[in-house]
Amino acid sequence: DFPALVLEEKDGRSAGRLARLTMDDLPDLDVTVEIAFSTLNYKDGLAIAGRGKIARRMPLIGGVDLAGTVVASRSPAFTPGDRVVVNGFGLSETEHGGYARFQRLKPEWLMRLPDVFSFEQAMGIGTAGYTAALAVDALEAWGAGWGRFVPGEREVLVTGAAGGVGSIAVALLARAGHRVTAATGRPQTHDYLQSLGATGFIDRAALAEKGPPLQKERWAGGIDSVGSTTLATALAQTARGGAIAACGLAGGADLPATVMPHILRGVGLIGIDSVMAEMPRREAAWARLARDLPSDLLARTMRVEPMSALPRLAEEILAGHIRGRVVIDVSR
Ligand code: NAP
Repeated sequence: DFPALVLEEKDGRSAGRLARLTMDDLPDLDVTVEIAFSTLNYKDGLAIAGRGKIARRMPLIGGVDLAGTVVASRSPAFTPGDRVVVNGFGLSETEHGGYARFQRLKPEWLMRLPDVFSFEQAMGIGTAGYTAALAVDALEAWGAGWGRFVPGEREVLVTGAAGGVGSIAVALLARAGHRVTAATGRPQTHDYLQSLGATGFIDRAALAEKGPPLQKERWAGGIDSVGSTTLATALAQTARGGAIAACGLAGGADLPATVMPHILRGVGLIGIDSVMAEMPRREAAWARLARDLPSDLLARTMRVEPMSALPRLAEEILAGHIRGRVVIDVSR
């Protein structure tokens, strides 16, 4: 048998329980992967702590991400020995996920891991980091098409900057030549964020305040993990033709905004969905990460914890106390 973290229903909510499973507990799907590492995302925190409706059938093995080696395959697309990564595709929602030593998966969920990354590094990136890469791709596509997004012209805002999506977003934007302003509620992370490439800082409380619908134009664009009044303020302060990529809801799922920035300044609001993103988009995002995220920077953002720490870590990520990324060693 092997260790796993299983989401079970308790009083109408999900709760994470450390368990031991056998291969018979896994679904009958075509590709069997020996998992090396998984990771902790905000959404994993919600599922384990039973907040928000993440797991829609239970019991379900948790973990939205995994990286490992194919050990058996009934699909011609993969052969034993292939190094793969899975991000999303319903893992930990309707499908069994990465918090286990082994998993069986559909071949269409698997992406070949770029050679430059170890499994540990792949999960140091995880859904959070890959989402940051999708967001940078989306802003560049906006700038190459309808809108404006020119490196160096104006500052780019990253909210929730010391978190997982935020940390990797700061590093990728800086690498792409942008001046990055990090919005964080933790001044003690300024040195860390500066080492990733941030050149400006703003207290997150300043963005969380509800303000007028159009404010002084400040940002070329931004990547937002926070939602709610923070996203509304970011939009109100975005310069003509810029755009904000909305990734998250760490501050709330509401959006108390007006259409003014959109209709008077042509500001764009781009939605980022990592879970069901199509394979070419995933491959492009991971190619960006392989190209633009040096291993020393990535190392600064991540640490490894055992699966047994997940119940505690889930509370920590929901409280906004996790800096950067946590990789989960599924053997412990
Ligand atoms: P994380 O590591 O916890 O980062 C979130 C950060 O947001 C925190 O570190 C904190 O940054 C800030 N924050 C937390 N609570 C806040 C509050 N009440 N008000 C304002 N700021 C707050 O989580 P993550 O894994 O990076 O995920 C970030 C968000 O993106 C989550 O909502 C997640 O569900 C979402 N997400 C979405 C997708 C997608 O496909 N769209 C993919 C991945 C993640 P500071 O301490 O620096 O202020």
